Amino acid sequence: MTELSGLQIFKYLPAAKKTDQTNCKQCGSPTCMAFALKLAKHQTDIEKCPYAPDELKKIYIESSKQPQKTVEIQGVKIGGENVLYRHEKTFINKTALAVVIDMSKPDWKETLERVQNFEITRVNEHLKVDLIITKNGTIPDTLSYEDLQKLPLTEIVDNNFATTAAQLINIRRKAVLEKDEKYSDPVYVYFKHTDNLNLLCARASYYICKYANMLVFEDFDENLMSALMTLRQNIFTDPQKPLQVESKIYEFNNPDENSLIFMTTNFALTFFAVANELESLPVPSYLIVIPAEGMSVLTAWSAEKFTAKIVANTLKKLDFANRVKNRKIIIPGLLAHMKEELEEEIKDFEIVVGTVEAFAIGDFVKNLKSNQA
Ligand code: SF4
Repeated sequence: MTELSGLQIFKYLPAAKKTDQTNCKQCGSPTCMAFALKLAKHQTDIEKCPYAPDELKKIYIESSKQPQKTVEIQGVKIGGENVLYRHEKTFINKTALAVVIDMSKPDWKETLERVQNFEITRVNEHLKVDLIITKNGTIPDTLSYEDLQKLPLTEIVDNNFATTAAQLINIRRKAVLEKDEKYSDPVYVYFKHTDNLNLLCARASYYICKYANMLVFEDFDENLMSALMTLRQNIFTDPQKPLQVESKIYEFNNPDENSLIFMTTNFALTFFAVANELESLPVPSYLIVIPAEGMSVLTAWSAEKFTAKIVANTLKKLDFANRVKNRKIIIPGLLAHMKEELEEEIKDFEIVVGTVEAFAIGDFVKNLKSNQA
């Protein structure tokens, strides 16, 4: 049984049954619905409602059982998953990517160095190989293959795609849908050496989607890792949490005190759309990123996460007025209606309304320059 949603819980409570105890607040929540939503997130105890029927208690306890164990290997957590599809809730721990260093091979030191030095940055995340597993010897701070096999994990050696895929799906379904404890260990797929890295990439990609908790490779290839990490990041983002970038001043093309100044929110997609344009401008610029809980520009404004006060406080905190002589900040065109409000609050700067779409920034800057000339 998958975990109960708030609505499924609510159906058993007095408000849904329209009895006298409806919204009595004895549980500490203002309504039965609020209690049900909290219970679904495990933020309260079912015993707090004296009117919760035994039938609800029974199915709630059953549905709350953890389907898959969480195992920590050298600081890397795997497993702990409790849904089949990310949109049902979220995935918990991303598929770990591990590389085997076989110390009987003459080039093992060189491979180890490449693995240790490999790092990519994507959507503000610094991604590295999660684990190094040694064979035929030991290296400090790594795990030997023998020790890996002693952990409460299920190993599938990838000899045949259809078989591996079927096993992975079967194990996850048994764990999540039936809460069958025999299938509660996290699963890793072991890839033996192959000369066909394209095929390896295709297979590993499928297993990241369904349902490997860890992939262990005898081969190490930077391009393969990079592709898999990119895919993994997409699969394992939490659909309930927008991707955010850090709120700070970003610099493009070595700006000085007279360079252009743009402003946007910390929603990752907005940030990267604007940042790409600023990077390709023939002039240097700053981009001030306002903390807006990862919301896009208009959403942040309507949720009061992008207000004149928040902008003023951010500028103050970043001590930006003292860093530049330019006194014009270009705001997103979608926030044109905030111009006066912002100017009232931010005494140090004049507000210029920029473009609605990021792709128009290049032309906007050209016009700005020709108007100034
Ligand atoms: Fe509803 Fe039970 Fe909370 Fe009363 S105690 S508000 S009946 S959930």
